[in-house]
Amino acid sequence: MSQCSQKYSGSGDELVQLGNQKKLMLSYESNEKLTWCSGCGDIGIRSALIRAFALEGLTKQQVALFYDIGCHGSEADKIGAYTFHGLHGRVIAAAAGATLANRNVKIIAEGGDGGMLSEGPGHLIHAVRSNYKMLFILHNNENYGLTTGQPSATSRQGYKMNSAPDGSPLAPLNVAELVFSLKPTFVARAFSGDVKHMTDMIRAGLNHNGFAFLEIMQMCPTYNKATPSDWYWDRMQYVNQLEGYDPSDMEAARKISMDLDEKIAVGLLYRDEASVPFYDRLKSREGMTTSPFEEVTHHDITPFLEELR
Ligand code: SF4
Ligand code: MG
Repeated sequence: MSQCSQKYSGSGDELVQLGNQKKLMLSYESNEKLTWCSGCGDIGIRSALIRAFALEGLTKQQVALFYDIGCHGSEADKIGAYTFHGLHGRVIAAAAGATLANRNVKIIAEGGDGGMLSEGPGHLIHAVRSNYKMLFILHNNENYGLTTGQPSATSRQGYKMNSAPDGSPLAPLNVAELVFSLKPTFVARAFSGDVKHMTDMIRAGLNHNGFAFLEIMQMCPTYNKATPSDWYWDRMQYVNQLEGYDPSDMEAARKISMDLDEKIAVGLLYRDEASVPFYDRLKSREGMTTSPFEEVTHHDITPFLEELR
């Protein structure tokens, strides 16, 4: 089946709502030109984020976005909001600090398959376990795109790539399987070509009370020709269209997320409605109505320094 690489459709009500929020959407524009390759999934992901913020009525003062190193990371200056561009593999650490310090903004962290599954998987593992309240978006384009197409932990076995001319020798890591082994409270999957569906998943993640893990299978037409757009369109299985699918059943979600070849499950795979985030488990914060950053006070240490003279 041949389809265009990206779809921007939405329900009639949603399009009306977006029209009403045009000013809010425009406020997220930046003066920087998009520098991604033509057809790159990052373009659709950026659109979905802005649509989700507008539909949620979030102003740019109410969100903070954190980026890892990778092609996706240049979104840091392509969205006109508070953004932070950190070190390779370390984006979750910075975002976790922010979510613990400031309870008044929505924290969004984004990273690629290279940074998150090779350089910094420890941060991902402990963020899922800790259930820090944030939306985390994994840009899974199955290669190191920024450094011109070397195999990553999610590349298809046997696919010939830069630095692997005989084909990637390893079987790909199924990130959902890893995440489910850590008892997550929210797991969703989407495809970068379906902007409407990504918008829905981002909105669900923004409203989750804990660590919302959203894997986006991202097109990289320049270096990942193993799984082009049509390949995904032909294989996606929207779980909300499956009769009886229950996103509170973790075991069913884990099982259905295993297939990365024939029928690829997308949608809200699992959500624990009773999720309790890390911060709310801290005895030291019980009864506190302020965020830690609001409790910072200035101390004059001049007398102390005088004593040291
Ligand atoms: Fe996008 Fe791939 Fe180009 Fe990077 S190399 S900008 S991921 S298409
Ligand atoms: Mg990548």
